[in-house]
Amino acid sequence: MRTDGLSINLATVRQQWNLVEAVEACARHGIKAVDPWRDQVAAVGLDVAVRAIKDNGMQVSGYCRGGMFPAADAAGRQAAIDDNKRAIDEAAALGAQCLVLVVGGLPAGSRDIGAARRMVADGLAAVLPHARASKMPLAIEPLHPMYAGDRACVNTLKQALDLAETLGDDVGVAIDTYHVWWDPELEAQIARAGRARRIFGYHICDWLVPTKDLLLDRGMMGDGVIDFQRVRGWIEQAGYTGLTEVEIFSAANWWTKPGDEVLRTVIERYNATL
Ligand code: ZN
Repeated sequence: MRTDGLSINLATVRQQWNLVEAVEACARHGIKAVDPWRDQVAAVGLDVAVRAIKDNGMQVSGYCRGGMFPAADAAGRQAAIDDNKRAIDEAAALGAQCLVLVVGGLPAGSRDIGAARRMVADGLAAVLPHARASKMPLAIEPLHPMYAGDRACVNTLKQALDLAETLGDDVGVAIDTYHVWWDPELEAQIARAGRARRIFGYHICDWLVPTKDLLLDRGMMGDGVIDFQRVRGWIEQAGYTGLTEVEIFSAANWWTKPGDEVLRTVIERYNATL
């Protein structure tokens, strides 16, 4: 079984282990990369997290997450910008390959998605100098449109790439199959992202039918309807040679199983996508 090229988004085992335990478990299973979440880092402390990652020789495929730029007033928008700068600093300390951005939805009380999208563009522009100074690439993750109201008003790969292009270099995309598998433009937009060298991350998990919870019922690869070999072919064709990150939030299934069983299954199913 291959584990090269595989990264574990640590949300996948967040109910089983803290960050240090999860990193050690990945190392035991021969996995050489992780993507931690900010709350997981905060729970053990940044220094402890950095040491666990270094001691276990882990690459950090990304850091989850920044974003959440729209807010009802200027003070809220500034607070988001300040928080993103802290996230950039943490990502740099961890040696992350990018900061993953879930850009945010509509501020409370708003019905103006256009305004929310402008706030996202403005927020990104405001944090970009700090990201550049820290040599931390920003990866916009388009989210499935079911999250446009509360989590991300950037919903397609095309939209994310359009935004990245207006901002310039050092801004790219994280392509997550859960969010974009349905998009009729996916193949063309992956090719476009590759030409522009803007694929900073590739996340996989499956779309279950039915999906019983919009946030916490992501599927293990092979249990749903996504054709991973096809999408992987497009990603490879686009020139992406980076890590493939498995990211599964699964409150009723995988989060209830022993962590070692989850990692064993991830490795098996990852191999089937190659
Ligand atoms: Zn993702």
